[in-house]
Amino acid sequence: MTSFAVRPGPDTDDRVRCLVVMGTRPEAIKMLPVVQALQSSELLQPYVVNTGQHADLVAPILRAAGIEADVNLEIGGTGNTINGLVRDCVAAFDDLLLMLRGGPERRSRPRLFGAAENSGNPYPALTLVHGDTTSAMAAALASMGCKLPVVHVEAGLRTRDILSPFPEELNRQLISRMAAFHLAPTPANQANLIREGVDPERVFVTGNTGIDALHWAADLHQEWPDPRLARLDQLDVPLLVVTAHRRENLGAPIQRIAAAVRQIALERPDLVVVWPVHPNPKVRDDVYGILGGTPNVVLTEPMDYIPFARLLQRATLAISDSGGVQEEAPSVGTPVLVAREESERPEGVEAGALILVGSDTDRIREVSLKLLSDPAARSAMTAIRNPFGDGHAARRIREALEYLVFDTMPPDRYGAAFSRMKVLEASGYDAREIEITSGKIAAAHPELRKGAGAMLALASMRR
Ligand code: UDP
Repeated sequence: MTSFAVRPGPDTDDRVRCLVVMGTRPEAIKMLPVVQALQSSELLQPYVVNTGQHADLVAPILRAAGIEADVNLEIGGTGNTINGLVRDCVAAFDDLLLMLRGGPERRSRPRLFGAAENSGNPYPALTLVHGDTTSAMAAALASMGCKLPVVHVEAGLRTRDILSPFPEELNRQLISRMAAFHLAPTPANQANLIREGVDPERVFVTGNTGIDALHWAADLHQEWPDPRLARLDQLDVPLLVVTAHRRENLGAPIQRIAAAVRQIALERPDLVVVWPVHPNPKVRDDVYGILGGTPNVVLTEPMDYIPFARLLQRATLAISDSGGVQEEAPSVGTPVLVAREESERPEGVEAGALILVGSDTDRIREVSLKLLSDPAARSAMTAIRNPFGDGHAARRIREALEYLVFDTMPPDRYGAAFSRMKVLEASGYDAREIEITSGKIAAAHPELRKGAGAMLALASMRR
């Protein structure tokens, strides 16, 4: 049995628990609005599971939002292999479920309703995993082993090449095979799932929660973490922000990207370039080796998310291989050159907010210099409505989950609607069971009647 840290203290909150799994920086950022939305629910509560894959990068994000993980699985990421992560995460997650259940799993029935039928039941109704990390995939697998329904946040992104990016694309596709309920950021993501045979009635289009998070972070207006950034307070100084760390870019591609950045910086001495360098030693060696000593290039430690959001908002242009940055930057008016050969976010490329430049030194240099000196071309890229979300994804997710478990009012549509019945059937219930159990829940919660008025009455009763 694994030992891990569980947040101490008696839990007297009788709202139904939803496990929210996170372990890496992008998961923490994009799950944060979901955790906040569930905290505000009268019916559901988040139970935050930090897998510990990138402990150092996740802690400051949770701290800034005043969120404390309920459990830390402490699986440790750096240095662990992909198989080691899967093994450690499945084992630790299984132990967590055992602990929450108070004994081994003997039932063959799913448990989604168990918590709703008996208020105060500590066992969760479902597991929310995000995106494409190995720990998300392993948490989904461990949940499935206990028939705990999996809800996939940021579902349906695809390159369709399971080797690129690796292992992320494989993880995404595997999670899609396991999830009962798919929360797709965009209609294009929904279409990918349907093309793979996922029932359209189990997909709900929500917008990307990363946009919700960025709006929250930008509003905090935190101090620059590094004194060398004070110059950015002069708003007429152009700023190029660069990030790169994807596995497929390690080695020669990052060296080519860094070489392009060096040429851009030398040709535009008025420009400030800020590159928060990822902790991966391979990335650090190459980036510091090629760019160290370039006068107008500031290489920083990986930046905490909140100041990074401000940096992105302040930027004139970004060059990045990060998935999150591709979605976020357009919502704060910053055009992005995507330093990858392909993107699983074609909406942004099609809409014109992103340009795919790969890792070709000449192309990156040429396109960057053109955009930096052409405000009209930059405005043309950022004038479009952000195809990735409107900042209300997490509220839609909360409403969808309340509807799923408690049969409250369905959430408003952002893109497509979904069928509660189909999602529950995919969780392992048959139609008759759903009807009987829904009746029992209604009896256990007489205050719950469909409709906004009843929800308000419920809210005031609980206060
Ligand atoms: N980010 C950050 N600090 C940095 C660089 C990026 O907080 O120094 C944020 C960024 O805003 C985005 C997320 O980290 O939300 C992206 O994470 P990453 O690039 O690690 O992963 P990806 O999005 O490619 O999965």
